[in-house]
Amino acid sequence: MSNRKHNFCAGPCTLPTSVLEEMRDEFLDYQGAGLSLIEMSHRAGEYDTVHQEARHLALEVFRAPEDFDVLFIQGGAILQFAMVAMNLLRPGERAGYVNTGAWAKGAIADARHYGEIYTAWDGAADGYARTPGDSEIEVRDGTRYLHITTNETIGGIRFPDFPAVDVPLVADMSSELMARPIPWDRFDLVYGGVQKNLGPAGMALVFIRKSVACPANESIARYLRYDVHLDKESLFNTPPMFTIAMVGKVLKWMKARGGLDAIEREAADKAGIVYRQIDESDGFYSCPVHRASRSHMNVVFRLPSEALESRFLAESKSADLLNLKGHRSVGGCRASIYNAMPRSGVEALADFMQRFRDEHG
Ligand SMILES: *Cc1c(COP(=O)(O)O)cnc(C)c1O
Repeated sequence: MSNRKHNFCAGPCTLPTSVLEEMRDEFLDYQGAGLSLIEMSHRAGEYDTVHQEARHLALEVFRAPEDFDVLFIQGGAILQFAMVAMNLLRPGERAGYVNTGAWAKGAIADARHYGEIYTAWDGAADGYARTPGDSEIEVRDGTRYLHITTNETIGGIRFPDFPAVDVPLVADMSSELMARPIPWDRFDLVYGGVQKNLGPAGMALVFIRKSVACPANESIARYLRYDVHLDKESLFNTPPMFTIAMVGKVLKWMKARGGLDAIEREAADKAGIVYRQIDESDGFYSCPVHRASRSHMNVVFRLPSEALESRFLAESKSADLLNLKGHRSVGGCRASIYNAMPRSGVEALADFMQRFRDEHG
């Protein structure tokens, strides 16, 4: 479809055109049933097939081992900020949180209601421009888990390597969910809102070590208990069927592309195109992030003045390059290059950046 523009939105993300077309084609009449998938009972056979396929594909594409399961939970990543602490922390236990920026701060603020939370490393002194090395992370005695935000969507930083510490890791991976492999033996839980890389908004994927969900904390409401979702294979209540069907299709698309390794390679290649444009601009474009911590998903950059940034944003929009404005809390520009962004879209952005610099540099 020729009128689709290049969407660099930080979330919801651009989705594969082929997946959108497939959903459009089967939307009114799902496989001859005479109604759409989202009008069916979530207990119907047709839906169950879609549901189970999405579950199995999520585990397969992410290469989660046998002792993990995946949960579909509404409320996005932010609800997981609370659910993680509610479910994993018992009286007397504490958890360490690595404060890498805006989203980590949110996770800390919400977890504090449910247990003793301490900051195991704070990036404030460095302006949240990098992630820590292992030796900088302080893990205190009696720590149940260490929480990390693997990719800070607003600051544009990521952990190039996941920490190797003596306690299990819990990760908010929202903005790079299924964009790189996970060393599962170090993790108890990995979660992310699906709208950043995998589908439309409406839920989080939660990959959980099954032994962690049980025994459950029985003093919290059922929907907030991981063991309840685990037990019911994410059919405890009416699930967001449309979102799940879309995620299933995107996972199939990812698998056909070569799976996680191919996606990871493509991400490094695509982000590299924009970083090269920045690095070779004689300072016209600048990236505030330490080189080793540069995100492969959210490339943040500045121009010489705010006036030029406004102009850049207006002209890029006219050139069909959408949503390049940085988050309102930090300003500047940001290109979010998620799994479904084609290389051609990134090349169009790099060409535009070159032209803009030729004109205004
Ligand atoms: C977007 C985002 C969130 C919030 O996700 P919701 O699904 O909107 O609740 C949390 N963490 C990170 C890293 C994000 O990028």
